[in-house]
Amino acid sequence: MRGVLSRLITWLSNRRANSATLGNSRTKGRVGSGMTNIHSGEKYTEEELRERLTPEQFQVTQHAGTERGFSGEYWDVWDDGSYHCVVCDEELFKSETKFDAQCGWPSFDRAIDPSKVSEIEDRTLGMRRVESVCGNCGAHLGHIFPDGPTETGDRFCMNSASLAFKPAAGTES
Ligand SMILES: [Zn+2]
Repeated sequence: MRGVLSRLITWLSNRRANSATLGNSRTKGRVGSGMTNIHSGEKYTEEELRERLTPEQFQVTQHAGTERGFSGEYWDVWDDGSYHCVVCDEELFKSETKFDAQCGWPSFDRAIDPSKVSEIEDRTLGMRRVESVCGNCGAHLGHIFPDGPTETGDRFCMNSASLAFKPAAGTES
C-alpha cells in the first residue's frame, strides 16, 4: 500500500510540474475573468450553454459533475471514430485509445494530443486527484488516474456527458 501511495504522489508531482503553467493560468483566468463561474465561461455564456446542452451535460461540463457509472452513452461503445468535446467540438480522443476499464465510464489511455486535455489538481472530496478539462474551452471531462493497463500507464476516466462521438468516415450506417 505504501508503495502504491508513494508512486501516486510521485506521479502527481510530475503531473503538476508538466502542467503547472497551463493549470495556473487557467485557474487565474477562471477566477479573475469576472465572467460566470462556469468551466467554459471564458468562451461561452451560461445562457447559451444551458440552451444547447442537456441538464446533465451542463452539470458535468460546467460544474465538474460526474454521471452515474454505466448510465452514460459511451461507456460501452466500441465503434471506430473520435470523441469530441460536447461543448466546443474539439477532437479529444480516438476510439483506438479507448479501453474497457469496467468502471462504467468511457476510458482512454491518452488524448489525441497532450495539448487537447489540460490537467488540474483536484483536492475536492478529501482526495487528491487530477481533473481533466478540455484544452480549448475548459469544459470538465473527468479525471486521470495512474493505473492504466497500457504502456501510457494513464487512465483517462471521462464522462459520456462531456463527449460527442463522431463515427469514422465510411462507418456511419
Ligand atoms: Zn471544449
